[in-house]
Amino acid sequence: MAEIKETDILSNLVSKQQLYKAARNTKISNEDTQRFIDSIFGNYYLDNDNINFLVKNGYNFFSIDDEELCFCLSGIVFKECCKANLSEDKKENYIPFLKAIISYENYSEYLDFSSKLFEKNYSAMSENEKCNIPYCDKKAVENKLYNVDFNVCKLVSSNKRNIFDNNYQMGHSFFNEVKDDQFRYYGFCDQHYIKIQNIEMTKKSSDEDILTINFTTVVYKLFLARVQMEALKEEYRNYFNSISQEAIKALFIYNLRKVSNHLSSLIDLYNFFLESLKGDSKDYEIVKFNLPRTNNFRIKDVFQPQITPENFKVVNSINNLFIPESFATISMYSDKNNSFITMVYDRKNQNMKEFFDQYLKVVKSKMKSEAAFISNCSLILADNIIFNKEWFDGLEDQEKFLYSALNKFRFEHPNMGQEYLKMKFFAGFNKGNNFF
Ligand SMILES: [Zn+2]
Ligand SMILES: [Zn+2]
Repeated sequence: MAEIKETDILSNLVSKQQLYKAARNTKISNEDTQRFIDSIFGNYYLDNDNINFLVKNGYNFFSIDDEELCFCLSGIVFKECCKANLSEDKKENYIPFLKAIISYENYSEYLDFSSKLFEKNYSAMSENEKCNIPYCDKKAVENKLYNVDFNVCKLVSSNKRNIFDNNYQMGHSFFNEVKDDQFRYYGFCDQHYIKIQNIEMTKKSSDEDILTINFTTVVYKLFLARVQMEALKEEYRNYFNSISQEAIKALFIYNLRKVSNHLSSLIDLYNFFLESLKGDSKDYEIVKFNLPRTNNFRIKDVFQPQITPENFKVVNSINNLFIPESFATISMYSDKNNSFITMVYDRKNQNMKEFFDQYLKVVKSKMKSEAAFISNCSLILADNIIFNKEWFDGLEDQEKFLYSALNKFRFEHPNMGQEYLKMKFFAGFNKGNNFF
């Protein structure tokens, strides 16, 4: 890949995102306050008191300052970017997401609206995508994350093509048959796409092959996060002034910040992989597992460890929008006899390193725990897990509901009840799930 050119969209995003970060946190002067803020930032879950304190000290969860760099990562201050482009006219029929999830009737209308917005931005962005392999300058074609013909191979997943389609309710199964147009993205040129599809992962695979396979999960996630940001930006500019309730406005901003932080963190991850693939960085750590073949599930995703198991350090906060998200990647490859799983992370990320060090110490001892560790990472910490339909259909309803909840409730507006459910589950780690 070419040295990334100045004109490339992604590299623009990358440099602007650095600006965005540097511009944060300029308001704190008092040392004690700063120390307290640092300690709050170590919390996994911010409660209302924490958030109020942070808001009082200049961390705007629910509004955006005029002089702040814009959430859309344009590198321009808010008042001259998205705020300046706010449409004044009120659209009576507009239903914001947060209002739509309250009633089923409104939700289908919202879904219709957001699917159009998503598809429009998906195709607009696909026009200019370049191949993401270092030093390749060719146009990207539409790729499939999983090397599977979903028409032939029946699998179920909670993935939806439109990532705004996320109204999940406790006590339901979210796993549906995967359709052929799912897990699509623009990532690599036709030649590199074929080359990547033909990489066979074995115990002897080179670091480069392992990095490349894991890189596809990053490129997939990043492409969709960029589509999501473009769609949200458009929604914000055209419809924000049509929202009448202040509380809904505040939550809309909260969502914008969440997506902005997510995108910004994915760009960091993308850079980390690029430097590793180019050989400029040796900070990557590859973890390998070789287990008897399973046909029950597949996984290719970035995943987000939450808490280190021994000393309970926070790797990712569930609702603190000012902490960069930390990702590792997971890719599974099966041949006739074995399922080979690789994970990649940045060992410079201290909490991430401790997460792996501590878990691996536990799982190295027993084969069964190893399978449970991979199962749990795939179901709880990632969101792209796909199950063999026949296997999944054979589960009890209660199991389907539990797996659904565990798979999704980390992501959208978690409440304390959902947190409790998850923690209770984590407490049973040693027993754990095992999909092998
Ligand atoms: Zn903007
Ligand atoms: Zn290429």
